[in-house]
Amino acid sequence: MISKILIANRGEIALRVLRACKELGIATVAVHSTADADAMHVRLADESVCIGPPPSRDSYLNIHQIVAACEITGADAVHPGYGFLSENAKFADILDAHGITFIGPTADHIRIMGDKITAKETAKSLGIPVVPGSAGEVKPENALAIAREIGFPVLIKATAGGGGRGMKVARSEDDLSEAVSTARSEALAAFGNDAVYMEKYLGKPRHIEIQVIGDGEGNAIHLGERDCSLQRRHQKVWEEANSPALNVEQRMKIGEVCADAMRKLKYRGAGTIEFLYENGEFYFIEMNTRLQVEHPITEAITGIDLVHEQIRVASGAGLSVTQEEVVFSGHAIECRINAEDPRTFVPSPGTITHFHAPGGLGVRVDSGAYQGYRIPPYYDSLIGKLIVHGRTRVECMMRLRRVLDEFVIDGIKTTLPLFQDLINNQDIANGDYDIHWLEHYLAQPSE
Ligand code: ADP
Repeated sequence: MISKILIANRGEIALRVLRACKELGIATVAVHSTADADAMHVRLADESVCIGPPPSRDSYLNIHQIVAACEITGADAVHPGYGFLSENAKFADILDAHGITFIGPTADHIRIMGDKITAKETAKSLGIPVVPGSAGEVKPENALAIAREIGFPVLIKATAGGGGRGMKVARSEDDLSEAVSTARSEALAAFGNDAVYMEKYLGKPRHIEIQVIGDGEGNAIHLGERDCSLQRRHQKVWEEANSPALNVEQRMKIGEVCADAMRKLKYRGAGTIEFLYENGEFYFIEMNTRLQVEHPITEAITGIDLVHEQIRVASGAGLSVTQEEVVFSGHAIECRINAEDPRTFVPSPGTITHFHAPGGLGVRVDSGAYQGYRIPPYYDSLIGKLIVHGRTRVECMMRLRRVLDEFVIDGIKTTLPLFQDLINNQDIANGDYDIHWLEHYLAQPSE
């Protein structure tokens, strides 16, 4: 059994994991950079270790320092949160070699899903529907034949891709060779690898993802979907569960396909299978082998604590629920609160002069922020998440409107005003949006 967990992360997710450990009676070790000495996750942990200067590569990404912190404190497991080392197969291997439990999947599963072509091939072989596309790499000489077979428009993507870079659309045969050469040079510049592949380009899809969790022994369940279509530059802004676009039959069908794939893979830990969804069809784009930022909306509608489950399966105790025992109840929405200008999204680090979090039934605030907290400029700008639950989507939206009015964060700019606009928008009220909706909305001049 696990008795002491080192949390290799910072901010709201470090606090989130710490809370789960406390509930389970497991001792906690926080790690932090010099810039985070006053952070809430450090204050609330049983022990803390400073692992380096502010830049992430010298602290939160420094594997040697993190392993040393485990040795010093006697931590027998590491929870990586999301981002940083959470999908780093080498880190999982090194912990394993030191006899420290990595709370996540096996290094092999992280590797398979980290390479886009291998991930897609694996998904296909496990019965998950994928976007029609090239079988492997596309070269300038075979691009036209492949594109004709798939049908225009097509999307050229970098095999080493990430963050939407090295991606180009070709709408017709005329733009194809330029799209291929631009994607290749962008991929080379961004990833040092010019390999590209091709997919059918979907015009107005939604982003719908399925939460899965497996015990590594061939048991796995799904916890339904999250709709994360409201994005800016491929960054999620607002997420909801369930998706306004799916009915119960569709949910259970795609959920079962994913859970079954995880059983075949003997997947261990929490994971998210991401799809584009258009005209009633799902198309796999990638799998994240970790906890996601937006996991609390799934917790809100299922009542299942995903971090408890991660710790259980990592310690060999198995899942606490079967698929039949999972009950979906009501609707949940998450708003990501970033320290950014709500219109330009320029980061706004600084000191929070007033902080008042809302409360009441169905309200959860996951944040390490507090009055007097100085947001360091070195890390991503997410300072908290507001999660609201209601029996129906309408009730959830009503509650969200009330809660947004109550939330006070002064001294810095935040994205809270954006949500106050969105909550009054008719398309949002109708649940009628795709992955391009928010960019179009933000491009309109404000009233
Ligand atoms: P990355 O790892 O670079 O983020 P993804 O494969 O996850 O790449 O895709 C990022 C985003 O690009 C998706 O969320 C979607 O908005 C868009 N996208 C990816 N594939 C397609 C496609 N075949 N058709 C239309 N849009 C796509």
